[in-house]
Amino acid sequence: MLCPCGSEQAFNQCCEKIITGNSNANSPEQLMRSRYSAYATNQAEYIFHTYADISRKTQTIDDIAQWANETKWLKLVIHHASNFQHDLLENNSAQVGFSAYYSHQDQIFHMRENSNFIMEHNQWRYLDGDVSESSTIDKPTRNQHCFCGSTRKFKQCCAKAF
Ligand SMILES: [Zn+2]
Ligand SMILES: [Zn+2]
Repeated sequence: MLCPCGSEQAFNQCCEKIITGNSNANSPEQLMRSRYSAYATNQAEYIFHTYADISRKTQTIDDIAQWANETKWLKLVIHHASNFQHDLLENNSAQVGFSAYYSHQDQIFHMRENSNFIMEHNQWRYLDGDVSESSTIDKPTRNQHCFCGSTRKFKQCCAKAF
């Protein structure tokens, strides 16, 4: 299986290693990708444990699992990611901007977020994010280009995740 994060690598060569704890996310972007893939494969414990300590207080594993379960994750697009080494020297924090496409109750949604990551206990953790866009998308007709910005047709792209 290809990794849900869109890297075009096999899942077990990409985010799965990080989710299972066999390797560490060594950049905020890798952590972001692995958290997305954990949502896509419904691994709520990993998502919970990659929140910063302070952010866990408002989360439960059950709520995360329920949300992941009700949602089909279609596509992740990374818009930008901080140069983490530079940021590390400055203040141990970094940002990643991304769009996620998902379907929920037969509707397709696009969410764009700027996420904040911090270094905590020597690991990157997700602190919080500002959602700048959250909207529904009409399902493309069979021959239209996919909504995610790829040049493929919907049925050869994100429709596969349905
Ligand atoms: Zn991946
Ligand atoms: Zn697509």
